[in-house]
Amino acid sequence: MPRYAETLQDVVQEADARTLLAGLAVSFANVHKRFGGAEGTLALADISLDLREGEFVAVVGPSGCGKSTLLRLAAGLDRPSSGAVAVQSDSIGFIFQEATLLPWRTVLRNVELSAELHGIDRKTRRQRALRALAAVGLADVANSLPRQLSGGMRMRVSLARSLSLRPRLLLLDEPFGALDELTRLNMQEELLRLYRDNAFTALFITHSVSEAVFLASRVVVMSARPGRVHEVIDVDLPYPRGRELRFDPAFTELVSRASRSLKEAC
Ligand code: ADP
Repeated sequence: MPRYAETLQDVVQEADARTLLAGLAVSFANVHKRFGGAEGTLALADISLDLREGEFVAVVGPSGCGKSTLLRLAAGLDRPSSGAVAVQSDSIGFIFQEATLLPWRTVLRNVELSAELHGIDRKTRRQRALRALAAVGLADVANSLPRQLSGGMRMRVSLARSLSLRPRLLLLDEPFGALDELTRLNMQEELLRLYRDNAFTALFITHSVSEAVFLASRVVVMSARPGRVHEVIDVDLPYPRGRELRFDPAFTELVSRASRSLKEAC
């Protein structure tokens, strides 16, 4: 069993988790997180937020407002100081800003790595890795080394590595933050295609309001430290979404609204 589940059972008693979760993928209930004892940094204050199964939620907020901490709590990599975090599935993918590929392994063997660490047999993990690479359009570079790829391609390998585990919940911590603008826009469209085809629940951290609105059905605007939920904005724009959405007045209006909210929150 993955360590996430073990940690989760430490954090929330099973009965509490069942009550909290009914139909939800993730639930934060009155979560506070303080680092370094009673006088330490209060990173998160009274966060209550539910993600429905299959929902795409983006979180924006100023640097240091606790966005990464929120993600780490959902992954079971850290515990709340008070309140509860409950997660429905132990099948979780975590994607960081850096693709974190092993430079000496080929693309294919990098994608196989997660499945390898989870003890999935060789034949199954090879099949899944090849399918995941095809899904992100990288089948033809399966035998290349990471250094032979562009930044955008490396991020697609990282996505493929997570998808090969068939996660029910994908946690993404500014995955496109280091990419140039054009690659970033392409990756947003790619991610929405993967979301449509794989039906996971997504919790996506970003600095970019337009990225948040383009991807998510709800945008959570967090206030400066200690991080609180300042506002949750419903993005009432239907999926599937393509690049033309960026020129839609309804999109532009929502980006303006979220930007104003973020300004108030800082
Ligand atoms: P964000 O992702 O929004 O930039 P973080 O979640 O990384 O914010 O950090 C929120 C606050 O908590 C920051 O003040 C940061 O310095 C502090 N913090 C995060 N992790 C730790 C840690 N392991 N120990 C001490 N302080 C931490």
